[in-house]
Amino acid sequence: MNLATATHPTSTLKDRDSTDLIVVHCSATKASADIGVRDITQWHIQRGFDTVGYHFVIRRNGELENGRPEHTMGAHVRGHNANSIGICLAGGVDANNKPENNFTPEQFATLQALLSKLKARYPQARILGHRDLSPDKNGDGKITPNEFIKACPSFDVAQWLKNL
Ligand SMILES: [Zn+2]
Repeated sequence: MNLATATHPTSTLKDRDSTDLIVVHCSATKASADIGVRDITQWHIQRGFDTVGYHFVIRRNGELENGRPEHTMGAHVRGHNANSIGICLAGGVDANNKPENNFTPEQFATLQALLSKLKARYPQARILGHRDLSPDKNGDGKITPNEFIKACPSFDVAQWLKNL
C-alpha cells in the first residue's frame, strides 16, 4: 500500500503556476437545492477528481465555503486550471434544468466581497464567467452566446461587475 495516497486527499494537489483568471461558475442545481462544498466534493470525487474542483463555494444563503486550498491547481475549467481560481455559486438552473440567474442577493454580496479580496491579492487577474472561456469560433474577439459551450454561470459576469 502506498502511504502517500492514504493521507489527506488534498495532499496530491499541485501548486498553481500563476493566477491570471478568476472564474465564476454555478453548480447547475435548482434554487431550492441547498447544496454546498460537501455535496460538490462528493460529486467531483465520483467524477474521478481528488476533491472538489473549485477553490470556493457560495451557498444559497451567501455563506462562503472553502474548497481546495487557494494556492493549488483547480479542476474547474478545461485548459485554464494551471492559472486560475474557481468560485462556484450554488444554483443556476430552473425547474426544467434550463440556465437561470436565480442567485440570491446574499450570494452576490458574498461574491463581490470575495472578488475584491482576491483582486487585492492577484491584481493582474481577470474576472470572468466559465462560459466566457468558450472558444471564439468566428474569431471576432468576442465570445457570443451562440459560441457558449456551457451556460455556466447563468449570468453575465462582466455586465454584473460593471453595474456594481
Ligand atoms: Zn462552470
